[in-house]
Amino acid sequence: MRLRRLRDSMQKNGIDAALITREPNILYFTGFRGGTYLLVPLDEEPTLYVYGVDYEAAREELSSIDIKLLRYEDDPNKIISEKVAELGCRSVGFDFLDAKTYEKLGKLLGTAAELREVDEVVWSLRTVKDEEELKLMAEAAHLTELGLEAALEALRPGVREYEVAAEAEYAMRRNGAEGPAFETIVASGPRSAYPHGWSSDRTIREGDLVIIDLGAKHAGYCSDLTRTYVVGKPTEKQLRLYEAVREAQEKALKAVRAGVEAGEVDAEARKTLETHGLAKYFVHGLGHGVGLEIHEPPRLNQASKAKLKAGNVITIEPGVYIPGYGGIRIEDTVLVMEEGAERLTKAGYGLSVA
Ligand code: ZN
Ligand code: ZN
Repeated sequence: MRLRRLRDSMQKNGIDAALITREPNILYFTGFRGGTYLLVPLDEEPTLYVYGVDYEAAREELSSIDIKLLRYEDDPNKIISEKVAELGCRSVGFDFLDAKTYEKLGKLLGTAAELREVDEVVWSLRTVKDEEELKLMAEAAHLTELGLEAALEALRPGVREYEVAAEAEYAMRRNGAEGPAFETIVASGPRSAYPHGWSSDRTIREGDLVIIDLGAKHAGYCSDLTRTYVVGKPTEKQLRLYEAVREAQEKALKAVRAGVEAGEVDAEARKTLETHGLAKYFVHGLGHGVGLEIHEPPRLNQASKAKLKAGNVITIEPGVYIPGYGGIRIEDTVLVMEEGAERLTKAGYGLSVA
């Protein structure tokens, strides 16, 4: 199915063979985690080139793909260029090649075939999730919520940030996640003002703002969820900031639908924060695509001209970060639909630790 969509796109773009080298792309098209090169000709069986470590697993898991063993003494560029010549391909599209490989392969292909970067073509497929992917992403989101619940249970004055992160990751893993989709962020007190925080050995104190940003990985698929809490009773100011960020998220969520420009959704959140005099503290883009990788297209930021499509899975994560004081971020992973958005992460909101 996915290979068929790839071939349709190749045909439209005048590509005779696609050379896929990035691991998440190979996984997307074959369902196999491993392999070094996937060569997909327009109308012949694809070939997956694997080294010895992946050979047995590939042979066992893949039936409709030709598996070729690469030995260390082989020059894979030579093998691929010979295959391309044998197939008579005139144009080879690739997702990613490092400069050295690009040069070597280009030389070997000579004038017989042209090398063309088609990363956009691959992303245009990957960013629109199919039914099977959405099921896996819903499960990843659910596992993430279990992680957040465990983090919340551990959250109290006297505990260290990494202890809270550890509880979250343990709960996700124990419930079936392959692991965290990224390093869990627990950033407390003044550290919550770092948009790209991490879990340090800081001891959490009464009255601290605590940002918890986490995600489970399930069957290769990521999820991304952030909530911010106050340990103890929130102050007026903390509540005011929280409500502003929540409002910004809600306004942005309402703007999400197929056909809208990603930059417009970002603008909704930014405008809302502006009315509270907080826009200058919103120092990052509103969100990003999520899938087999935690950060994928489409990007949602002020400059983003990408049009959202039904089937995109994106995050909506406004935040304010006041240096020396603290920060608040609220993030959900959502599915873009024709007429709106559906939250995949369903954790409740609220600043107080119940
Ligand atoms: Zn996140
Ligand atoms: Zn995110």
